[in-house]
Amino acid sequence: MARIVVVGAGVGGLAAAARLASTGHQVTVFERADTVGGKLGRYAHDTPAGSFHFDTGPSLLTLPEVFHDLFEATGAKLDEYLDLVPLDPIVRHVFGDGGPALDSCADPVEFATRIGAAFGDRAAADWQRLWRRAARVWHASSRDILRRTVDSPRDLASLAWRVGDLAAIAPGRTLRGLGRRHLSDPRLRMLLDRYATYTGADPRRAPAALVAVPYAELTFGGWYLRGGLGTLADALLTRCLDLGVVVQTDATVTRIDATGGRVHGVRLAGITAPVPADVVVANVDALTVYRDLLPHPRRLAGLTDRSLAGFVLLLGVSGDTGLAHHNVFFPDDYDAEFDAVFGDPGRGVRARPAADPTVFVTVADDPMVRPAGHEAWFVLVNAPRQGTAAGAVDWRRPGLADAYADRILDVLAQRGVDVRDRLLFREIRTPADLDAATGAPGGSIYGTAGGLLRPANRGPANGLWLVGGSTHPGGGLPMVTLSAQIVADEIGPAW
Ligand SMILES: Cc1cc2nc3c(=O)[nH]c(=O)nc-3n(C[C@H](O)[C@H](O)[C@H](O)COP(=O)(O)OP(=O)(O)OC[C@H]3O[C@@H](n4cnc5c(N)ncnc54)[C@H](O)[C@@H]3O)c2cc1C
Repeated sequence: MARIVVVGAGVGGLAAAARLASTGHQVTVFERADTVGGKLGRYAHDTPAGSFHFDTGPSLLTLPEVFHDLFEATGAKLDEYLDLVPLDPIVRHVFGDGGPALDSCADPVEFATRIGAAFGDRAAADWQRLWRRAARVWHASSRDILRRTVDSPRDLASLAWRVGDLAAIAPGRTLRGLGRRHLSDPRLRMLLDRYATYTGADPRRAPAALVAVPYAELTFGGWYLRGGLGTLADALLTRCLDLGVVVQTDATVTRIDATGGRVHGVRLAGITAPVPADVVVANVDALTVYRDLLPHPRRLAGLTDRSLAGFVLLLGVSGDTGLAHHNVFFPDDYDAEFDAVFGDPGRGVRARPAADPTVFVTVADDPMVRPAGHEAWFVLVNAPRQGTAAGAVDWRRPGLADAYADRILDVLAQRGVDVRDRLLFREIRTPADLDAATGAPGGSIYGTAGGLLRPANRGPANGLWLVGGSTHPGGGLPMVTLSAQIVADEIGPAW
């Protein structure tokens, strides 16, 4: 039995703790916030009409098998903890041209039919051809990448890719390039481009292999959790406590002790005595681990290429707007948005809030999250990360967040959804707020942006492991849960 310390109670940290405890280890989780869940955050707002409950982070659960596997591996059944609700449409896509909306779903044949009805037969045939390719990429990556460690470019190159898989993955091609090649309809190209943002990246730079992301979503479905996605954090915490994990909140780890090539434990803020450990699993951003928590700051290639962040509005809305659960309102010029959000520091172009951004609106039809006759809206737009460098925006600048919130509400009104005179309240969450709440550097949602090779799960000292969205295999709830599985498998059982 090893003494294991997990640093951070995000989904990756809690999933790793549950798996490790269920295989006989003695596990303690230290979380610096006063609650668990990390980016899977929640916010409640009371009004005379009743209480509103919001998820402040994830709004869509994909790859439910990953979560079933997690609960099963720790001796429980997911359904006893969570109420998964399949979504159809998964996402309603509304385009700037005022033409028909496109509802995605988890049935590829039905989705092609919907594409045909909205955009014509050629668009549907294009999508089906892309889909066959996406299937090959998904099967290759789920077999070779998502459930094992990938420590280096050499590791990635030496994977036993089949020739057909390699042709489908098209190393060197971008997601944008793939869309251009396969899709003639500009609206379908936009739809495909958007999946780059699921990994925090610009589709013009993200690898074509990300076509596996829509494949997974539109094959295995998009799901809501009744009561909000935050119920996943409750379920994971309960599972950890039932398995004997000690979870300490308000406990900030300031240092990972690692000398002589292996870890010895961690230091906590305000406590002089070290906490000894045989193994440390860090669920904080890889940049923080390498730069701030190790005794000697280390550089790791690629850590500077940060993912985009998000600007969030939480709205209490009176009445019923008739929106779908997830709605994406695209702009006319998608590239202008990416130019703004990432900037081009190399050419002196600063990042800035996009004037006409894609707006993502989630409205759960769930009486548990809003009073009768009202809606709880989660509104998200891509945003530059917090900072003062050219690739970032200082969201703390007086007046900026409020002015941008006004702008987003105006943009929504221009796109046909005007709720400005129906708001009971609005709450703003900027990238600076996410940084403060979860320690995500600059509020970057996914750590580094987008590539197949992320910081490895194996840390730079023996006994040090990294889990979570900034590490392999990537961000998003299922990927961070897979990172926990990879790490728990590598550490192995106590017996
Ligand atoms: C606005 C938004 C929308 C999103 N939408 C989706 C979506 O629809 N679907 C989806 O699947 N994913 C989505 N994501 C991504 C998803 O939320 C994350 O990938 C995932 O929750 C990250 O989990 P993690 O394990 O990396 O840990 P994190 O959530 O990053 O948690 C890390 C934890 O470590 C703690 N910590 C940090 N430093 C220390 C320290 N020194 N000592 C102790 N504790 C520390 C933090 O407080 C935090 O609790 C979204 C994220 C955001 C922000």
